[in-house]
Amino acid sequence: MNIVFLGPPGSGKGTQADILCEQLGLAHVASGDLFRYNLNNDTELGKKARAYMERGDLVPDDITIAMVKDRLQQPDTAQGVILDGFPRTPPQAEALEAIFAELGTSLDKVVYLNVPDEEIVLRLSGRLICRKCQATFHKVYNPFTTCPHGECNGEYLYQREDDKPETVRARLKVYHEQTSPLVDYYRQKGMLVEVSGVGSIADITAALLEALGVETPPEKRSD
Ligand SMILES: [Zn+2]
Repeated sequence: MNIVFLGPPGSGKGTQADILCEQLGLAHVASGDLFRYNLNNDTELGKKARAYMERGDLVPDDITIAMVKDRLQQPDTAQGVILDGFPRTPPQAEALEAIFAELGTSLDKVVYLNVPDEEIVLRLSGRLICRKCQATFHKVYNPFTTCPHGECNGEYLYQREDDKPETVRARLKVYHEQTSPLVDYYRQKGMLVEVSGVGSIADITAALLEALGVETPPEKRSD
């Protein structure tokens, strides 16, 4: 089973992708990890990408697509993948279809994890980070005013510039503008399923499994 995961920053997409991969035996293919892997290992594709990045240019689609194609041929993807952060545009979505076709498989579903903007503003703008150990806390869900870790005793927590409410709203606006053509593309193909990303982690996982038409594996059931 091959799935594309879409959802705004702060939607819990990465967490849910990890849980589903674990439960369904899929590989989590996150575009950020692909770039880090290719850059850190100085692969041919990594070298090409770095040349653009050092000039401050966007890495062209063909390099990103080649990284994805490479990744989709690794043995851990045999049961399928959850793609996270790729594709971002309809042309990338078409390239992905071509890769799957070449590998003798196909994309099964596209999941959009839907969380209202104001809920995301609440989640992200409550996030606090320890200057010393980078641990993450939350004003509401995990309230601390100083880091409790011994070696950070007394260290004050701070809010990243990116997490200020006005910055979060601006990031969400950009996300929606960039993603809506892709969402429309998959909706028109009848591949899009929308799942609410509000609620407990376990409830959202259950809703995702149902939307994907997957029975919860018996050993994972709590009843
Ligand atoms: Zn700390």
